[in-house]
Amino acid sequence: MPGLALVARTAWGAGGEPAHGGGGGAFGRRRDLAVLVHDGSIAAVVPAAEVGSLAADRVVDLGDVTLLPGLVDSHVHLTATGLGLHGANLRGARSAAELLERVKSAAERSPTGLVWGDGYDESGFASPELPGPEALREAAGGRQVFLSRVCGHQGLATLEVLAEAGALEAVGCDRGPDGEPTGVVRDHANHRARRHAIDRLADATLVAAQDQALALAARRGVVCVHEMGGPQIASRRDFELLLGRLDQLPLRVVPYWGAFELDYVLERDLSQIGGDLFLDGSLGSHTAALSTPYSDRPEALGSLYHDDDELTELYVRATQAGIQVGVHAIGDRAIGQALRCARRAVRAVGRAAFAACRHRIEHAELLGLDGADRMAELGLAAGVQPAFDAAWGGPDGMYERRLGSRRAKSMNLFAELWRRGVPMGGSSDSNVTPLNPWHGVAAAVHHHRPSQRLGLPVALELFTLGNRVLARQERTTGRIQPGQRADLTAFPGDVLATDPGKLEQVDAVFTMVGGRLAHGPEELAMEVAASFGG
Ligand SMILES: [Zn+2]
Repeated sequence: MPGLALVARTAWGAGGEPAHGGGGGAFGRRRDLAVLVHDGSIAAVVPAAEVGSLAADRVVDLGDVTLLPGLVDSHVHLTATGLGLHGANLRGARSAAELLERVKSAAERSPTGLVWGDGYDESGFASPELPGPEALREAAGGRQVFLSRVCGHQGLATLEVLAEAGALEAVGCDRGPDGEPTGVVRDHANHRARRHAIDRLADATLVAAQDQALALAARRGVVCVHEMGGPQIASRRDFELLLGRLDQLPLRVVPYWGAFELDYVLERDLSQIGGDLFLDGSLGSHTAALSTPYSDRPEALGSLYHDDDELTELYVRATQAGIQVGVHAIGDRAIGQALRCARRAVRAVGRAAFAACRHRIEHAELLGLDGADRMAELGLAAGVQPAFDAAWGGPDGMYERRLGSRRAKSMNLFAELWRRGVPMGGSSDSNVTPLNPWHGVAAAVHHHRPSQRLGLPVALELFTLGNRVLARQERTTGRIQPGQRADLTAFPGDVLATDPGKLEQVDAVFTMVGGRLAHGPEELAMEVAASFGG
């Protein structure tokens, strides 16, 4: 049989039962395996010693690597990720002065237009004050500035941006004791200011940002991302720039549109809607919807952005059309709303039809055991971000400050979800946390609460087969098995015997998407091209 045979010392995901779904079996580590790739698919999997029997056109011995099903990140914001690489990267800034310094140098690097900055997190500042809008304007040499908080649910902007965006009169425009805007925007004011800021970026800037994010993902062994677009996230124009290029992209992209617009996604032949459809905001910005007030701000409860009827109707109509719905829900009140509306929809359409859509709750953070039970019962799937726990969990973390330690303990219940057989996939929410599956795998393995830690094979499954299950693609890809699409990656050594944290800084040996190389050494690229008859 023609094709390209890849020989690896270690392979994972090539045999055995997935742990997912309660089987509990190991997805399997096998030694010395040869995988034949032909015509974009996996044509055969045999012991390395029998590679000759494949009669492949080409044989590449990868040596001491682990061959894996390609990694998948099931919740990313590509444009924000790319902009974060080139605009003002505010991650790790420890003070207002440092923010201004970074805005200043970003303004110097790109001499015109709005200055975009991303990733500030004042919960890590020694003193939590943010710079005012005037200081921001000065730092940018008089230009407009929009800075996105690390969570995306709060922004900091110059007054011109707020005025032009209509954010000054919107709910969530923060004002000081003197009644003047502080530049901080949350909720609707943030959505308006953010959208206005994105609108001021050229098409070419958005496309370049998407491409940079995809190239970064390919280096990390990622073969597929779920893009979470939406009118409040990066605009319809941004989403359509990506949609129009799906066939030409180096990676597979599953696009989610975060609005109540079923006709819009049906017209575009998408089988999913929502994704990061905000039912509430974030804990960091005190906008996640809680049933009892924030511990560090007793007057705040966060807010729900939509009413029950609207969400129930979406679940019902989407299920009838076979379309999957994803919603963003972090606080217990938002998760409760999703569960309540799901239950109403189940009454209308039946559990089997509802569960077949694998409707997703993204984040599902302040879930509680009861919430985990109800997700299992209703047939809902969970899109989780273990890296959130690494960033904000634990005794001194932001979650405990916002919620107190008792409530914070009912967050990010990965092991509980897993035990209940809730379909679950892992993601970064990049650029909220780095687009780097090993970072997420490490965070799941090292969850700050030992009872919620996942074993390495299970954590890895979240970022491979689990994410394929979330996209309803597991019949075609996600395992190293004959008949599946050749979506593969490899990392040096035996990754099952390595602390996943150590792999965060390591590039993939190669990344293959449908038999084509998205990342890898020149020699391998030539072998792949030759095996395609090119
Ligand atoms: Zn979200």
